[in-house]
Amino acid sequence: MKINNHYTELSSNYLFADIAKKVQAFKAENPKAEVISLGIGDVTQPLCPAVIEALHKAADEMGQSATFRGYGPEQGYDFLRNAIVDNDFKARCINIGADEIFVSDGAKSDTGNFQELLAADCVVAVTDPVYPVYVDSNIMAGRRIVKLPCTAENNFVPALPQGGKNSSSGEVGRGLVIYLCYPNNPTGTVLPRAELKKWVDYALANDALIFYDAAYEAFIQHKDIPHSIYEIEGARRCAVEFHSFSKTAGFTGIRCGYTVVPKDLRVKSEELRVKNLTLNQLWNRRQCTKFNGTSYLSQRAAEAIYTPDGKQQIKATIAYYMDNARMMREALTGMGFKVYGGIDAPYLWVGTPRGMSSWDFFDWMLHSAHVVCTPGSGFGLSGEGFVRLTAFGTHENTEKALHRIANRL
Ligand code: PLP
Repeated sequence: MKINNHYTELSSNYLFADIAKKVQAFKAENPKAEVISLGIGDVTQPLCPAVIEALHKAADEMGQSATFRGYGPEQGYDFLRNAIVDNDFKARCINIGADEIFVSDGAKSDTGNFQELLAADCVVAVTDPVYPVYVDSNIMAGRRIVKLPCTAENNFVPALPQGGKNSSSGEVGRGLVIYLCYPNNPTGTVLPRAELKKWVDYALANDALIFYDAAYEAFIQHKDIPHSIYEIEGARRCAVEFHSFSKTAGFTGIRCGYTVVPKDLRVKSEELRVKNLTLNQLWNRRQCTKFNGTSYLSQRAAEAIYTPDGKQQIKATIAYYMDNARMMREALTGMGFKVYGGIDAPYLWVGTPRGMSSWDFFDWMLHSAHVVCTPGSGFGLSGEGFVRLTAFGTHENTEKALHRIANRL
């Protein structure tokens, strides 16, 4: 047999595994130390009561022959697709149909899998630093990747890729795919409407496709920051959008999200044109072949977050996390750190002091304050000199961690 050699090109170090190893070694040497993690992006608050009620109800239905459900539609049940359309799109005056929504088991799978629809010679543009799934899934497919640095100097707004379809010498030509994630993981920064419009206009002018990861849209606090790329005129013709209930409603263990594939996505492909096919149809075909739907229980649980009680309850949990973010921003800024993000996102991007490297500062935080952060360099070269902190801890632990950092400086 022969393997797909591109797998051997993947970076062998998995960031969170390396962090876990270091933390384990520290704990083995310091068994009495109480280590607080402000590193990994998992949530700490339990599911809200509306979701628990829906889960119980769905479990009871599964135990009765009259209401038992087996395989569901690969695209998701209508009750959830309709709730998504009504609440996430219609309520914002965005025109998206239920047949453009594909319910998933989370955004990781779909952001990783969607590239299967692209030709191997497409060029992929990603921000640097970046959520690693976009890069690794395209390395596995053997694609060329262009990095768009996001630094304090450019205010974490990436420059448009050089070149484009009309350039003979540019970095990218035809077949460009751009991954954007806003609010951003890891920097916690956002893209204002006027900036996002530049990307939509660029994509339309250059026949590029945008993959827009909106996993953290529920954390946006300011009215002028777009929750969906479809708030921008023309985005239906150039963008696929990914959503996740993981952080919005604590579904990291339940697993549910969705992907929007508009029917009028304008993909310049002779093959699609001749066969009169759309990207929506291709994704549907792919899902029907490789995915057997998200569990009925997860979809009923997700539906519950769109009820009046559910909405209010998840809002309260998001406010809890954003209060952590505020507390962290204020305390760390007061200690003299350069802090970005944490206003419309649950992540803070903190400059390391005195030119320390990301990993040196990680070691200092672990050994001096017994606090775990995530080294920025693990998200890309431009992440060097930063660490990522998350607001997903408990108030008590977050406060304690901040006190310890202040005392050890
Ligand atoms: N996209 C981004 C930017 C993320 O940070 C994450 C999770 O950390 C995901 C997608 C995946 O989320 P899910 O749990 O829905 O797979």
